[in-house]
Amino acid sequence: MNSPEVLIIGGGLAGLTAALDLNQKGKRVLVVEKNQYPNHKVCGEYVSNEVKPYLKQLGVQLDKLALPKIDTLHLSTPKGKQITAKLPLGGFGISRYAFDYQLYLQAKEKGVDFLFETVEYVQYKDDGFLIKLSSKEEIVTRVVIGAFGKRSNIDMLLKRDFVQQKSPWLGIKCHYVNNSHPSNVVGLHGFPGGYGGLSLTEKGDINFCCLVKYESFKREKNIVSFNGNVVSQNPILRDFLSNATPKFEKHLSIAQISFQKKRAVHDHILMCGDTAGLIHPLCGNGMAMAIHSAKLASEQVFRFLEEPNFSRMDMEKNYQKLWTTNFNKRIWMGRKLQQLMLHTKWFNFGMNTAAHSKILLRSLIRNTHGIPILN
Ligand SMILES: Cc1cc2nc3c(=O)[nH]c(=O)nc-3n(C[C@H](O)[C@H](O)[C@H](O)COP(=O)(O)OP(=O)(O)OC[C@H]3O[C@@H](n4cnc5c(N)ncnc54)[C@H](O)[C@@H]3O)c2cc1C
Repeated sequence: MNSPEVLIIGGGLAGLTAALDLNQKGKRVLVVEKNQYPNHKVCGEYVSNEVKPYLKQLGVQLDKLALPKIDTLHLSTPKGKQITAKLPLGGFGISRYAFDYQLYLQAKEKGVDFLFETVEYVQYKDDGFLIKLSSKEEIVTRVVIGAFGKRSNIDMLLKRDFVQQKSPWLGIKCHYVNNSHPSNVVGLHGFPGGYGGLSLTEKGDINFCCLVKYESFKREKNIVSFNGNVVSQNPILRDFLSNATPKFEKHLSIAQISFQKKRAVHDHILMCGDTAGLIHPLCGNGMAMAIHSAKLASEQVFRFLEEPNFSRMDMEKNYQKLWTTNFNKRIWMGRKLQQLMLHTKWFNFGMNTAAHSKILLRSLIRNTHGIPILN
């Protein structure tokens, strides 16, 4: 294989979007992804509409999947006090199984190269990078985009600050058959120690995905008793679970989900998606941010490769600044909302206030989301 101009570590939404964008700009791109497609991932699977115009421009055909359109948020406290609100921009439901796969097929068709291996080593040297793969193959490239998700062996290799500390957060997900969940609604429901989202996928299944403190989970022996004894304290979730049949043989889970600050550029690698920073899932905006950050990185990488007077330092500085301007406020707001949601007394107070002021609730939603991403 010819040496790529850009090597992308990780082919999730961020990596695949950057690959599509740089390929469209005429660059030779290689994605190294450790897992084969399609596969399920722990995610709430509600996508904000802000990504639609940009994905369309990249040639991603989501319309043919007839995806559920979501325009309403249904929020409830652990005790079941509830409120609904229209989502200003709205979104759609799609499983990660289908979403990542669509982007992969599109990238393959357009000529992006893929290697299904684990990147084990990356080093910046002589204005380029040396990459070593699990097969022991070595690759050199001028630019590396890091899109390896929330926590990876590469974070350890780079000794990133957040991996030095343990995180109490656990994510659990399963698809269910349940015919009573309205297709246009995304649910966000609290329970002791965490919260869970409900939304429809392209297949008509309901994705139930929770974020929970490990402390709260470990008191129960398994997911069945956790759902029965903890999650079901919320009457809305109790109703859902008692009328739902799981579609997976085993629930999917990931541990050590860190919401700590990360740097958008580390050792000259431009980080995209969760690798640069993770917004609290209750905002339902992580996927849109992953896609948007890939666009911002691709623009800077393209300038670096094309313009002789645009240095590597210019590329890195610009990207860091763009990342901060576009996402820092959303992440901060998400952190505050999550603190509120997990504090029962304040959550009840907040819900009462929000119930009397849908304008306030809509403003909170706006502040954790972006506007449509356009070229
Ligand atoms: C509980 C929970 C619920 C959520 N719900 C929502 C929601 O409803 N809506 C929303 O918009 N966002 C949601 N999010 C956030 C969303 O899931 C992420 O922001 C999104 O997955 C980011 O995509 P990514 O491409 O950055 O990472 P990923 O999709 O994780 O992709 C990273 C890829 O890198 C690969 N990789 C890692 N290391 C290596 C290596 N060394 N070599 C090769 N490949 C490697 C992995 O296999 C993986 O495919 C949620 C998150 C959580 C935790």
